[in-house]
Amino acid sequence: MVMRVNNYLVEQLDAVRNEISQAAIAVGRKPETVRLVAVSKTFPAANIETAYGAAQRLFGENRVQEMAEKTEILPDDIEWHLIGHLQSNKVSKAVACADYIHAVDSVKLIERIDRLAGEINKNPKILLEINISGETSKFGTTEIEAMELATAAVKCDNLEFVGLMTMAPYGADEPELHHIFSSLRRLRDNIATQFAIQLPELSMGMSADYKIAIAEGATFVRVGSAIFGKR
Ligand SMILES: *Cc1c(COP(=O)(O)O)cnc(C)c1O
Repeated sequence: MVMRVNNYLVEQLDAVRNEISQAAIAVGRKPETVRLVAVSKTFPAANIETAYGAAQRLFGENRVQEMAEKTEILPDDIEWHLIGHLQSNKVSKAVACADYIHAVDSVKLIERIDRLAGEINKNPKILLEINISGETSKFGTTEIEAMELATAAVKCDNLEFVGLMTMAPYGADEPELHHIFSSLRRLRDNIATQFAIQLPELSMGMSADYKIAIAEGATFVRVGSAIFGKR
């Protein structure tokens, strides 16, 4: 029985990897420019070990406590991505165990991550979470807020500001998804130019929409249920 579950998981993982490669190639990108964050939230460590056995190394969790418990018992060469909203009272634990923090959405949080990471000699990579509305009219507000966050992030010594992250609304149709993901890419380009920095990462795309995200430039796709099954 256990074998069947494991085989199923590895098959799903391989299928997602194939889809990622094909989606990249279809738009003239090299498949290795898209990295798969396998979102293991709510699933036991045993499932992560199965995926690890199939050479998966990037895993995503949305709760700090759950991630901390898993990091303690799983191999050290796993790269841990915290993808969920981070509360300020969890920052200390988050910087202790996460390699990447994807959903950073306030100046306060940026400054706190920087300070607490410095105290324990860590240097987490962070991505700013941007809420891109389906309506172009709201894009200006997003952009101004993003510039404020970026201004704070580039000043920090104990974190590395590497990119932007977004989550498309549930049920968005294809044109809307293209709009949201391409808007994030343009915003990333604008920030990189404005601050004269490298901003390589775009974390966008989940089980339902990662192929569209890849077409629009995603470098991290965060895929959970298509690999591990229903939560
Ligand atoms: C749960 C989660 C995912 C993965 O969602 P699936 O639809 O299961 O692929 C991706 N990103 C974030 C921020 C999540 O919380």
